[in-house]
Amino acid sequence: MNPARQALLRKLPGVDHLLNLAAADTAFADIPKTVLTSAVRRVLSRYRNAILADDPAMTDAEIADAALLAEIAQTTRATMALNLTRTINATGVVVHTNLGRSLLAQPAVDHILSIAGRYSNLEYNIAAGKRGSRYSLVEDLICEISGAEAAMVVNNNAAAVLLSLDTIARNREVIVSRGELVEIGGSFRIPDVMAKSGAILKEVGTTNRTHPADYQRAITPETGLLLKVHASNFGMVGFTASVSLADLVALGEKYGLPVMEDLGSGTFVDFSRYGLTKEPTVQESVAAGVDIVTFSGDKLLGGPQAGIIVGTKPIIDKIKQNPLTRALRIDKMTLAGLESTLRLYRDEKTAVAAIPTLRMLTCPMPDIAARAEALKSMIDAMADSRVSAALRDLPSRAGGGALPLLELPSRGVGITISNMNAAMIENRMRRQSPPIIGRIIDDLYLMDMRTVQTDELPEILFAIQTLLKGDQHAQP
Ligand SMILES: *Cc1c(COP(=O)(O)O)cnc(C)c1O
Repeated sequence: MNPARQALLRKLPGVDHLLNLAAADTAFADIPKTVLTSAVRRVLSRYRNAILADDPAMTDAEIADAALLAEIAQTTRATMALNLTRTINATGVVVHTNLGRSLLAQPAVDHILSIAGRYSNLEYNIAAGKRGSRYSLVEDLICEISGAEAAMVVNNNAAAVLLSLDTIARNREVIVSRGELVEIGGSFRIPDVMAKSGAILKEVGTTNRTHPADYQRAITPETGLLLKVHASNFGMVGFTASVSLADLVALGEKYGLPVMEDLGSGTFVDFSRYGLTKEPTVQESVAAGVDIVTFSGDKLLGGPQAGIIVGTKPIIDKIKQNPLTRALRIDKMTLAGLESTLRLYRDEKTAVAAIPTLRMLTCPMPDIAARAEALKSMIDAMADSRVSAALRDLPSRAGGGALPLLELPSRGVGITISNMNAAMIENRMRRQSPPIIGRIIDDLYLMDMRTVQTDELPEILFAIQTLLKGDQHAQP
C-alpha cells in the first residue's frame, strides 16, 4: 500500500475516541447514543473509503478531530430531522397530491390540536352517558350542507367507493360507461376497485359516446347498480355523449335499481360562480336523486384526507353495518379537521375566505401579482449581483385530478443565478429548509405565487441567501 495512504489511515481516530469527544461536547447532548455511534461509524467509513480511493480532499487537516466532529454533527442532524416535513409549494398546483393535497383552514388545525393530546367524546354520547358513534359527529353537518338524507365518512374516497360497491353490489353486475372507467393515479382504477369489492363490471357504450339505451339494454336480473364516475382528471372533446344524471336516475327508478355516483373531487361550491370551470356539486347530485354519492375530503373540499358518502338512509344504514367499515374507519384527528372544515361551509363566503384550497383557487390576480412583486422587491433589495428576479405570467392548475382543463392565469417569480442553470437552482431550492418546490419553464426556474403563502416569502428569501452562501443543507 502506498505510504501516504497508510499514514492517513493510521491518523484516522477510532470510534471510542470520537465517542468520548462527543460526550464532552454539548452539541451532542440531545443525541441518543445509538444515533451517535452509527453516525461516527458512517463518517469513519466514508473517510476510510475516500483515503483508499486517493481522494485529494483527504489531508491531515481534513482528518483532524474537529473536522470529523463537524461531519458527525451534520450526520446526526440529518438523522434526527423529521422525515415528514413541511414544504413550500411554488408549483402553482393547488391540490398537489405529492405535497399533501389540501392545507387545512385554521379552525380545523386548532380543532385537531385540541383533540390530539386529550381524551375526547369520539365514541361517547355525553348527553346519554354511554357509548356513541364516531360517525354521528359529522353526519348531520354533511346532510345539512348537501341536502342528503344520511351520510357516512371513511378514510378516503377510494375506501368510500370500495365500501359502497361491496355493500350494494357484491356478486352483482354494475353497469358503467366505457368512457368513465378512469384511472385516478397511484393505481386507483375503477375496474380494479370493482373487482376487489366483488362487484362484476359491465361496461356499456364506447369510449367517447354512451347513451341511456346502452344502459337499458345491459340491465338484467343480475344487475345490482348503475354507476356514474366523474371523469375528474381528464377532459373529452369532440364527438362525445354521456348519460345525464337525470336520465340515469330515471332508469334506476324504472328498473328499481340504485344509482351511485363517484364524484371524485366533490365540491359544495359552484366554481362557475367564481369564473372557473363548472365542476358538478354534491348538492346537485343529491338533488338529482342519486342514491349514493362518494367524494374526497381533501381535494376541492379543502379538508383532511377522508372519503364522504352521502345517500338515502336505507343504503347508508346498510353501509354502516358492513364489517369493512371497521377496517376503513376514520381517525379522530381527521374527524376533528373534517368537522371544523364542514362548519365553514354553512356560509359560502366564510368557506371561500377561510379554506386555503378555495382561497387559492379563487385568488384574484392582483393579489397574486402583489405577492410576486413583493418577493421580487425583496430579492432586488439584496442587491447581490449574482442573482436576479423577473416576473412572468404562467398558468396554475387545480390539481388533485380536478378541473383538468382549467388553466388559472397566475404570476411567478423567475430566478436566475450566475453560474447555475435552472436545473441546479431547482435542485438547491429543494434542499433548503423548508424545501421549496418550484418548476422550470423554458429554462427558467419559476415560483408560482398562487400557491405560496404570504408568510413564506421571507423563507424563500432566506433560502436564496443560503443557497448563494453555498450552504445547501445537502442531504447526506
Ligand atoms: C381522487 C378520486 C378517487 C380517490 O379518492 P381519494 O380520496 O384519493 O382516495 C376516486 N374516484 C375519483 C373519480 C377520483 O377523482
